[in-house]
Amino acid sequence: MGLKVYIDGEYVDKADAKISVFDHGLLYGDGVFEGIRAYNGRVFRLDGHIARLYDSAKAIMLKVPVGHDRMKKIVTETLAHNGLQDAYIRLLVTRGAGTLGLDIDACPSPSIICITDSIALYPAEYYLKGLEVITVSTRRIGLGTLFPQVKSLNYLNSILGKIEAMNAGVPEAIMLNPSGAVAECTGDNIFIVKGGRLITPDVNSGILEGITRAAVIELASKEGITVEERTVSRYEVFTADECFLTGTAAEVIPVVKVDCRVIGDGAPGPMTKLLLGKFHELVRTEGS
Ligand code: PMP
Repeated sequence: MGLKVYIDGEYVDKADAKISVFDHGLLYGDGVFEGIRAYNGRVFRLDGHIARLYDSAKAIMLKVPVGHDRMKKIVTETLAHNGLQDAYIRLLVTRGAGTLGLDIDACPSPSIICITDSIALYPAEYYLKGLEVITVSTRRIGLGTLFPQVKSLNYLNSILGKIEAMNAGVPEAIMLNPSGAVAECTGDNIFIVKGGRLITPDVNSGILEGITRAAVIELASKEGITVEERTVSRYEVFTADECFLTGTAAEVIPVVKVDCRVIGDGAPGPMTKLLLGKFHELVRTEGS
């Protein structure tokens, strides 16, 4: 059986999974989405993802045509339909088909799409040895431009950052906010460790409030680790004892080099390893 994609109440074959060229999701990146994971048939933090999806939609005045519970069912039913236990789930709400103008009132029917697929994992070596990243010149969108908390279909800002990273031969990029403070990476949040404290840019630094980030903060707090959410400078990253990134796809991934500065002793540090282990335990034991 081939992959089935959920589109507005129907399950269609991957090859037939299509939307209108007049959908404002395509024309303008006008829509919102979530990247979610299932482990052993359990969806990790589904409630959190659904809450963020509806908050994103509300912020861009996109009225989601179904309620939270139905949306959760769409996710679990699409997984079941595809017989997937371990999966990456892409849930989208687009503004729907409209005219060639920007008017959202011309788009009466938002579309809901749910794609489930096997997860493309980062190479195991990245987790053992750690990543090298660079700071790119593309700044993260500012709070007054398009709220970075909104996980919108317009990902060009991140794509431009990713292109710079790939051009430099590294897999991820640190993006600064318009004030020059560290915000996040193109598809991951960033943490540093200094003197036993765990530090990460706060929401006002212009970040997506990652579900993985929240889980790691909870895990660290449970371990009695002091967590600081605040403004973080590049200097602090360069001089950190440890650095790691968090995201649904990456989970917790160590960073050992930033802009040619070796972080700590150049290998994944003890707090990174502890939190990575705790996170793996959590995703396998907690389920929605
Ligand atoms: N920041 C950005 C810009 C992202 O796109 C993502 C998700 N890919 C994250 C952070 C991490 O968020 P989460 O842990 O919810 O996947």
